[in-house]
Amino acid sequence: MLSRRMSLVVVGSIAFDAVKTPFGERDRMLGGSAVHFSLAASFFSDVRVVGSVGDDFGEQEYAVLRDRGVNTDDIEHVPGGKTFFWAGEYEWNLNIRHTLDTQLNVFGDFAPKLSEASKQADTLFLANIQPELQREVRAQCPGARLAALDSMNLWIETARDSLLRTIATVDMVLMNDDEVRMLTEQPTLVRGARELMELGPRMVVVKQGEYGASLFTEESFFSLPAYPLETVLDPTGAGDAFAGGLLGYIDAQGGADDETTLRRATTYGSAVASFWVEEFGCERAERLTREEIEERFEAFRRMTSVEGVPTA
Ligand code: AMP
Repeated sequence: MLSRRMSLVVVGSIAFDAVKTPFGERDRMLGGSAVHFSLAASFFSDVRVVGSVGDDFGEQEYAVLRDRGVNTDDIEHVPGGKTFFWAGEYEWNLNIRHTLDTQLNVFGDFAPKLSEASKQADTLFLANIQPELQREVRAQCPGARLAALDSMNLWIETARDSLLRTIATVDMVLMNDDEVRMLTEQPTLVRGARELMELGPRMVVVKQGEYGASLFTEESFFSLPAYPLETVLDPTGAGDAFAGGLLGYIDAQGGADDETTLRRATTYGSAVASFWVEEFGCERAERLTREEIEERFEAFRRMTSVEGVPTA
C-alpha cells in the first residue's frame, strides 16, 4: 500500500539529444537527466523539475512532462537562448557510448533558482550537474529527508574535490560502477562503496548498466540483475530513469529507508529502466502504465528467488 504522496524535486539537465545506436537514430529528441528522472519518478510520486531551457523548448516538450503530472514551474526559460544539446553514439556493445557533441547553451549559465515549494522538498535528487551547483541546491533544501546525487566522469576529472565535498552533504550516492572506481581509486565496488560512505552518505547505489544495480548500506548489500530483454534500442537515460523509479518509490513511502523499502525501490528502479531502453529516449515513457511496471516488478521477484519459483 502506498502512503501519502510527498514531494520530490530534481535538478539537472533538460536537453535535446541526437542519438545513434546500431538499431536506429534520432536527430533531436527530448532528453536530459532531469527529464528522464522526472518522467520515471512521476509513476510513483509528485515531482517538480528544476532546470533551464531556451526558446526552442516549446509546448510539445512541456506537454510530455505535464501529461505525466510533472510540475514544470521551476523550469527557467531563458529568452533568446538555446536548450542544452547532446549527441552520442553507441557501439554494438551498448554499454559503450561515445559523446559526439555537447553544446551547453543556456545550461552553461544555469544558476538553479528554487521556488518556495521546491525548497520544501521531502526528497531531493541532484542529477548530473556541476558539483558546486549541486551543493547550492542542497543548501536550499535543508528539510529534505533524503538527498541523493549522481555524477559523471567529467566532474570526477575536472572538479574532484568539489564533488567529494558535495557527496558529504547527501544521504545517497548513485553512480556507475566505472565512476565509483575512478572516484575512489578502489579496485572493488565493496571498497569503493565503503569509502564513499565514510564521506557521509548512508547508502551507495552502483549502476552497472546491462548487468543491473547494487545497493550498499553500512549493514547490508542487495543486488539485482537488469531485466533480461531480447531487444534493446537505446540505453540513453536508463540510469536517470532507474534513479527516478528508485527515489520516486522511496518518496511515496514517506522517505523510509528500511531494508525492505530500499530493496523494493531498487527493484522498481530496475523495472522502470527496463522499459526505457526498449525504445529511444523517453518515447516509451509516454505510453507506460503503472500496471506494466508492477508486472515487471513481479517478474523480478520470480526471477531472483533462490528458493525455487514463488507461486504468489
Ligand atoms: P544517462 O544515459 O542516464 O547517463 O543520461 C543521458 C542524458 O544525460 C541525456 O539525455 C543527455 O542529455 C544528458 N547529458 C549528457 N551529457 C551531459 C552533461 N555533460 N551534463 C548533463 N547532462 C548530460
